[in-house]
Amino acid sequence: LVSRENHPDRSVVRVGGVPIGPGTMTLIAGPCAVETPDQTLRAAQMAKAAGATLLRGGAFKPRTSPYAFQGLGEQGLKILADVRAETGLPVVTEVVDAHDVELVASYADMLQIGTRNAQNFSLLQAVGEAGKPVLLKRGMSGTIEEWLMAAEYIAQRGNLDIVLCERGIRTFEKATRNTLDISAVPVAQRLSHLPVIVDPSHSGGRRDLVLPLTRAAIAVGADGVIVDVHPHPETALCDGAQALVDGDVRELARLVRELPPVF
Ligand code: PEP
Repeated sequence: LVSRENHPDRSVVRVGGVPIGPGTMTLIAGPCAVETPDQTLRAAQMAKAAGATLLRGGAFKPRTSPYAFQGLGEQGLKILADVRAETGLPVVTEVVDAHDVELVASYADMLQIGTRNAQNFSLLQAVGEAGKPVLLKRGMSGTIEEWLMAAEYIAQRGNLDIVLCERGIRTFEKATRNTLDISAVPVAQRLSHLPVIVDPSHSGGRRDLVLPLTRAAIAVGADGVIVDVHPHPETALCDGAQALVDGDVRELARLVRELPPVF
């Protein structure tokens, strides 16, 4: 279903009216985690200033440590809905448990499947039935074939509104959190008709790499990027080290405006 063999034209997926696909360089931006109404609104305003047309923000956070901030849950979803009403930016947010799919889908414009759940097949099937577009991150130890098969689980349930997201893979390299597999973008675009975007924030895990990796994503023909922004990264409850601040946002806006997408 997701293969390009029987579907030679690349697909465009619409999220709250915003297109992602060939001919677009859709910018999705926002806080890693929803923390407070004010922090989320300010991050959304930064996102908008950077040219973002979709807002990201986690209400359910899959953290390595069970002692780390796990997200605000439904309260976070409500904050996202309020910020959408205020800014007009449709919301992309992660769902980590099949039991929460209906709840998250009632607030979100796009459901995100994170790297840790990339092969959680019951969750993939549940989002396939939720009637909302899906952002499917690549598993950090997943091959491109496994990633496409994960997409197939969603598609099999009747949902072809899937956007693939390369977010870095585990390698021996320790200088970055994960290694952005930039070649995965054209490879996946050749194998699948689905749009492919890049997450330069979670792959590098470092603020100073977000803009260079965004340039790489644009150069290689990604259909979009998803980046973390935060009004005060030093107090962020999640991944502050990779969040862009105001000055970076202006540079990001310039990149997205001036670097033409490649087809
Ligand atoms: C995220 O985007 O909030 C996230 C946790 O990303 P990943 O699943 O790629 O680590």
